[in-house]
Amino acid sequence: MSVWEDVVGQESAVAAFTAAARAARQAAQQREAQAAAGLAPEEARDGVARPGAASPAGLAMTHAWLVTGPPGSGRSNAARAFAAALQCTGPVPGCGQCKPCRDVMAGSHPDVVRLATEKLIITMEEVKTLIGEAQRRPWTGRWRVILVEDADRMAERTTNVLLKSIEEPPPQTVWLLCTPSADDVLPTIRSRCRLVTLRIPPADAVAELLVRRDGADPELAARAARASQSHIGLARHLATDAGAWDRRRRLLLAPVSLRSVGDAVLAAASLVEAAESEAKEATAERDAREKAELTRALGLESDGKIPAALRAQIRQLEEDQKRRAKRARTDVLDRAMIDLLSFYRDVLTTQMGSDVERVNLDLSEAVDQAARTTSPEQSLARIAAIEECRSRLRSNAAPLLAVEALMVQLRPQAEGR
Ligand SMILES: [Zn+2]
Repeated sequence: MSVWEDVVGQESAVAAFTAAARAARQAAQQREAQAAAGLAPEEARDGVARPGAASPAGLAMTHAWLVTGPPGSGRSNAARAFAAALQCTGPVPGCGQCKPCRDVMAGSHPDVVRLATEKLIITMEEVKTLIGEAQRRPWTGRWRVILVEDADRMAERTTNVLLKSIEEPPPQTVWLLCTPSADDVLPTIRSRCRLVTLRIPPADAVAELLVRRDGADPELAARAARASQSHIGLARHLATDAGAWDRRRRLLLAPVSLRSVGDAVLAAASLVEAAESEAKEATAERDAREKAELTRALGLESDGKIPAALRAQIRQLEEDQKRRAKRARTDVLDRAMIDLLSFYRDVLTTQMGSDVERVNLDLSEAVDQAARTTSPEQSLARIAAIEECRSRLRSNAAPLLAVEALMVQLRPQAEGR
């Protein structure tokens, strides 16, 4: 089981990472050999660079990487596997068997620092902490790896602080930044990073992963991979949660049955409500556990009175949790938008007579019906409306208002005007 096992459908990215990890290992071994011999760089001994000495330039490590790929393509998984390969002490970098590999994959390696924010924005404070971490020498590993999962969630001011550290990193530090696309970071950051781009994995590779890793039924896994358009997290959700298909079906069939603006408003409310409760379900257990851990750590009874001096810490936790809930709701709504997009794309390709295979094989009746009763222009307008709603949700608009506006535009009666 190598660390690349679950990085599915990304052969060229894996090849680039593996080659880099090999080069990094050679560079580190050379550095260690010199240190063991009590030598500074080769030249230092006699002041002359000897011909034939391994050229350090040829083994130079790239200290900043930008890993991009569409949502659900497995960016952070790929970056974590690369971090493991860098720390690996097995025969082939990323063996998955040695202790460093296993520790990195389990998230417990002391020299792999990971920032995965569940908030909408990475704060200046968090970035300053990371920069501090990046300045340390490795504790046990060969490299100090700093992995930022959502580097696009950073304000420009924060990015500029980060830039300095990326420009002049300590010799053993490696930054791994993940974003959906290279355009999501400032050009100044981009130009200092080596870019590795993940593609949308093929549906059959995603299905195979769901069967192998999550024990999903093969036929269900294949359907889920297709319906989610190879979004790995979404596909897993569909393949393992019995209620998920039902929710998806209701979501996709809702707009075509809207009769009035009133219907549209109600449908919007129920979509946002469903997103909220799904998000709550996903975070509730963890929230409660964190609160219990904190009260215990502060030496408080779980239901006792909280002394004023400690209230700030509790409040801080509650605020973090609130932000996390908001991010979870945004993610759920974004997935709903991706699903809706797939429906209207199916409608549009049908109207254009294209033979591209449909995403929503299980809803062909509804797709056919919509294709017959509307025009391609209307489908295009609806696709644009969904994209618009997505970007409003991402830019922090009130979800209910954004979704209401969308539903009004999706309703069949809006046609012909
Ligand atoms: Zn290993």
